[in-house]
Amino acid sequence: MKKKKPLKPFAYDLEASDLSRERHKARELRQSQWWKRQVAKGQCYYCKRETPPKALTMDHIVPIARGGKSTRGNVVPCCKSCNNAKKQLLPMEWEAYLKILTSKTS
Ligand SMILES: [Zn+2]
Repeated sequence: MKKKKPLKPFAYDLEASDLSRERHKARELRQSQWWKRQVAKGQCYYCKRETPPKALTMDHIVPIARGGKSTRGNVVPCCKSCNNAKKQLLPMEWEAYLKILTSKTS
């Protein structure tokens, strides 16, 4: 009789290794000249407020946890208030927040 293999949550394992790979890539990207140029602009990508480069953090437009990658197209400089908002809001609420921001600036 065949021994039953325990159900391995391999999808989760894959995800976990993806997560750590993307986080590692994000750390590398943060050291890059390209990223230094992004923060040197001194502007938050979302609210467009002038923000000192030191206060800007790296944000993934599509969070790593939701399948986002640590690529130049997916990471943006983000101010503290937007960063906090993004962490605290549900994805739908975040979209609404962005809409308010863009309607204000345009
Ligand atoms: Zn902002």
